[in-house]
Amino acid sequence: MITGTTQLFGVMGSPIEHTLSPAIHTAGIASVGMNAVYLPLSVEKAQLAAAVKGAVALGFVGWNVTIPHKRAIMEFLDEITEDAEKIGAVNTIVRDGGRLIGHNTDVAGVLAGLSRAGVTVQGKQAVILGAGGAARAVLWGLICVGAERILIAARSGEKAEKLAAEFHDSGDVRSAAWTDKIYEKALETADIIVNTTPLGMTPNLDVMPHILWEKLKSDAVLYDVIYTPRETRFLREGRERGHLTVNGEDMLTVQGAKAFELWTGKYPNVAAMRHALRRALELR
Ligand code: NAP
Repeated sequence: MITGTTQLFGVMGSPIEHTLSPAIHTAGIASVGMNAVYLPLSVEKAQLAAAVKGAVALGFVGWNVTIPHKRAIMEFLDEITEDAEKIGAVNTIVRDGGRLIGHNTDVAGVLAGLSRAGVTVQGKQAVILGAGGAARAVLWGLICVGAERILIAARSGEKAEKLAAEFHDSGDVRSAAWTDKIYEKALETADIIVNTTPLGMTPNLDVMPHILWEKLKSDAVLYDVIYTPRETRFLREGRERGHLTVNGEDMLTVQGAKAFELWTGKYPNVAAMRHALRRALELR
């Protein structure tokens, strides 16, 4: 029941109609028994400054930020964490006294998917397919837990190179286009292959990234950050060939759980949040 002491959380973005975050967080809130609500907050680009002031004035405990504000919000914040800085995006605002701190909780999400599947990253070789926003979070996450070598492979070699160059100082990060021999070679030694492109996402179920199945090690782990469908063509074909596969559900739910923990000090029930995500997707 909403009362005079109900705590406020939400997500700012535009468009916001299709956000899954309220469903996921409502389950998280219920799991810890808090008197709180999590709202979709439709905020146009030109209104971001006013919305940030407004959220503070209205007493929001904290909120998430999504497209198109993940970078633009930085100028309204007092501090940005290293993860958000490296990934180049803020997805969670935490109020600390009078200060606003911008976090990025995607690293926790990226790594949760792998750890729940029993996959360790330290000392491993990885190939990341795609060079967009999700690739940045995956790349930084893998670096943070000690991946030995990472190749970013994208349809555009230039974009892959630009992303790799930003992380050269942080680890052994290389780049290639899908048509390059280097990509083929990297597939032969990769322990973990992560799809961060939208290829295979609903409704385009019959497409997948450029993979040379015969090159892969038999124990290579396949990770797709897509969560709808639960099993993309990339994961299905890999599973049928005997590979361990991981989808993007944990990435989405755990970035939310981590944000909630930053706001409240309480870690919500991730299984309940994952269940709510699946239910919300079914109802679409
Ligand atoms: P993005 O910033 O637009 O990046 C997409 C990347 O995929 C780019 O490198 C893009 O290449 C490449 N790409 C797009 N279409 C392609 C195609 N037809 N063939 C080859 N490459 C293609 O998008 P994003 O935010 O990273 O999101 C990517 C996917 O990750 C989406 O499916 C999204 O739902 C998912 N995601 C999941 C989570 C989660 O929590 N599980 C979080 C974030 C994103 P170009 O630059 O050449 O276009």
